[in-house]
Amino acid sequence: MRLSAILIVIAAHMIPAHVARADPPPATTEAPDEERVLIVRSGDTLARLLDSAGVEDAAAAAAIARLTTLYRPTALRPGDEVAIRLTTTDPAILLEIEVEPELGRTIRVRRQADGTWHADQVVAPRQRFLVRAEGTVDGGLFPAMTRSGVPAGLALSLIRVLGHQVDFQRDLQPGDRFSILFERFRDSEGDILGHGQMLRARLVLARQTIEIWRHKDDRGATEWFDRDGRSLRRSFLRTPLDGARISSGYGMRSHPVLGFNRMHKGVDFAAPTGTRVYAAADGTVVSARREGGYGLMVRLRHAGGVETRYAHLSRFARGLAPGRRVRQGHVIGAVGSTGMSTGPHLHYEVAVGGRAVNPSRHVQQAARLGGRDLTAFRARQRDLDRLAATLGRRDEVALAGD
Ligand SMILES: [Zn+2]
Repeated sequence: MRLSAILIVIAAHMIPAHVARADPPPATTEAPDEERVLIVRSGDTLARLLDSAGVEDAAAAAAIARLTTLYRPTALRPGDEVAIRLTTTDPAILLEIEVEPELGRTIRVRRQADGTWHADQVVAPRQRFLVRAEGTVDGGLFPAMTRSGVPAGLALSLIRVLGHQVDFQRDLQPGDRFSILFERFRDSEGDILGHGQMLRARLVLARQTIEIWRHKDDRGATEWFDRDGRSLRRSFLRTPLDGARISSGYGMRSHPVLGFNRMHKGVDFAAPTGTRVYAAADGTVVSARREGGYGLMVRLRHAGGVETRYAHLSRFARGLAPGRRVRQGHVIGAVGSTGMSTGPHLHYEVAVGGRAVNPSRHVQQAARLGGRDLTAFRARQRDLDRLAATLGRRDEVALAGD
């Protein structure tokens, strides 16, 4: 596939008079300019896109540097559009870059008369709504959530978060119920502009009810907290991959390949080859290499002398190298069947002080909100519960502010 951008000439029009008057750089005088929409392809960077559109390197670098004050160009994904305005002179001079990171929010960087760049952001007036989605699990939490109206991206991130609390294979059963509150944005005509954050989630299982709230703490970090204000982030993921089932637990077992009894020092999760594997907690890469019967294995070091190990991978995440910092939930590789393995699965081990421990028992002490943070969190819980109650049978209620 070609990596270069598709160029579509949308419109050609004259530079506005006030720009022409204000002592423009020589080449732009009275030159007509044109707009193009560049479509991001896999592997593209903004610099590469601009280069493929014939923009000169120095101008591109200056414009990108200015744009970066409001927008991270690395957030661009294949299929995203970048609009640019150029002169029709030869060489063409870049006049403007425009991106729309989300519906209703436009960021522009414009070349000024003196050749410097100015960035601004235009946010269309929008109204924030609180939406409640409820449903019953049958045949998977993800399809049940999307059927109930939860956007797929929010559903996936929630499943990842709930992976701290729930062993999906063991705890989740048909008939279990969920209730989710999330933000929706509409424009003044009532059309949906997009969705914001999930604010509260409740999962009613046979043996327990899990309730979590999203909250911004004193340091400005937004995280999920349980009813008592304990952060979910600090604990290790129970399931460091999506939608897997435990195929073999921790402890003595007859080894499927060797055939004799042997201690199984980890937990096996059966999942298709290529399923993404996540860092179970924040940490540092110790190694990512082939290790005998473990096949391709990643070792991560975490606080408190804890090491997590992810074995039989089909591949490592790009750029994963010893010393590299990873955050909880970052993709570190993909499920495979390398080494001594009977089929695609993740072998997951947790070691403390070099000795393997039972991963399902090992959950690091979670940080808990205190003082003013806890008071603010309690107030937020009450607000959301009150709002949820006012929803009644309706799906949606308008929220104040943005
Ligand atoms: Zn195993």
